[in-house]
Amino acid sequence: ARTSYSQPYSIFNEEFRQQVTREQTLIQSMEPSLKNGDFVPYFQPFFDIRTKSIVGAEVLVRWNHPIYGMISPASFIPVFEKNGFIIQLDQYIWEEAAKLLWRRKKEGRKRIPFSVNVSRAHIFDEDFEPFLLGLMEKYELDPGAFGLELTESVYVESQDTMAEAVARLQKKGFRFLMDDFGSGYSSLSVLKDCPMDVLKIDMTFVRDILESPRSQIILSEIIHMMHRLNLPMIAEGVENPEQTKLLKNWDCNTVQGYYFARPMPAEAFEKLIDETQR
Ligand code: C2E
Ligand code: CA
Ligand code: CA
Ligand code: CA
Repeated sequence: ARTSYSQPYSIFNEEFRQQVTREQTLIQSMEPSLKNGDFVPYFQPFFDIRTKSIVGAEVLVRWNHPIYGMISPASFIPVFEKNGFIIQLDQYIWEEAAKLLWRRKKEGRKRIPFSVNVSRAHIFDEDFEPFLLGLMEKYELDPGAFGLELTESVYVESQDTMAEAVARLQKKGFRFLMDDFGSGYSSLSVLKDCPMDVLKIDMTFVRDILESPRSQIILSEIIHMMHRLNLPMIAEGVENPEQTKLLKNWDCNTVQGYYFARPMPAEAFEKLIDETQR
């Protein structure tokens, strides 16, 4: 007879096997998917908390996978960061976003600044800067309309080189947004030493402000500190009117979250811009 404790091992092996198979499937389908246009940019607007007008939008990738259907970036970005495909994927997504801005410019329609996510593998790649500058030229874009979102962990890895690269691109007009501020181990030290243009406050700080007085103190003081540092901030993950009210009382500038708008495909995003912005 089998002993009872052989059970967990077989379960573990089965799960592990399935995970490896899934990863392999993702890797096998990434190149064909890129050619087929299965990767698509979604857009999630940022709102001015007072006027409720759209002041920007984050570009977020979605994968309409031939087998799995629409899958979330959390399930494939880590795989592509490991195997390096993230660079090609990000360049493709940025180009799609750049094209949209360029087309709207030609059509004389209202444009909204974008921000894109930059992965750690990408920022240290030699192609990073030439590609970005090439994109601005090809689509006649102003670098100020193309924000770069970096998480603080990217800075920590190599703070001096990062600070240099950031400063160089800022001189060319690019804006840097620190993503997921407060979620890492060195938020304050990164804040002290790296020049940033906008700070995105991680959604874990917003999540429980209605129930937790401690969270209220922490978040309101973060916002207060940003004002003193002259840093505009975006609160991420705002999901209801009660959170919005608190953030407004604390004088948070900008909000992003399901309460205001979910990430949406280009068509819906453009419709929203055309209908709501003058
Ligand atoms: P992130 O950069 O922190 O992006 C914000 C995530 O929060 C997005 O998840 C967005 O859909 C989600 N979100 C927005 N509002 C709310 C809300 O009110 N409540 C909750 N619970 N979530 C909200 P998404 O699109 O699944 O992306 C997950 C992560 O994957 C992103 O986190 C980013 O790190 C990465 N990612 C997404 N797209 C790209 C991309 O094109 N390139 C790279 N390199 N990374 C990407
Ligand atoms: Ca982001
Ligand atoms: Ca974030
Ligand atoms: Ca994140």
